[in-house]
Amino acid sequence: MKPLTEQEIRAAFVNCTKGEAKRLHIPRDLAEQPWDDLDFLGWRDPQAPDRAYLAAESDGRAVAVALRSSGAASWQARRSICSLCVTTHTGGVSLLVAPLAGKAGKQGNSVGAYMCSDLACSLYVRGKRETGTRLHESLTVEEKIRRTVANVAGFVAKVTASPA
Ligand SMILES: [Zn+2]
Repeated sequence: MKPLTEQEIRAAFVNCTKGEAKRLHIPRDLAEQPWDDLDFLGWRDPQAPDRAYLAAESDGRAVAVALRSSGAASWQARRSICSLCVTTHTGGVSLLVAPLAGKAGKQGNSVGAYMCSDLACSLYVRGKRETGTRLHESLTVEEKIRRTVANVAGFVAKVTASPA
């Protein structure tokens, strides 16, 4: 994806207030991120481990989503699959919940998805990070990348979809 600046990311948040977007944690090492190998940028707040964020491109524009860990721990030891990149982990998948954008989110509505806990889906898909648990798949890396991009776009669409 195209490298994003801190300002672009802060301006791209769709499901938190402007004040929150101004204050939330953005990685300091944006310039060193492997943008060429990223389908989206995902990160966690080191000061608040239940908070996670992702920034992706949608129709050529940056879209960023604020996420929260559900806090449920009982599933952690089990083998689980990331719903974005379809990587299998043992204990490396979190249920992350995003408040919906706009009014629906203010009313407490949210959408959840299982994701790689470190949000490094792009690197798992490309074989640049390993989980130790490998599900055999006959897809090529290109196909997996396309699938991840489509899954991320689908998730972002759910967050931004305003109910009629
Ligand atoms: Zn993943």
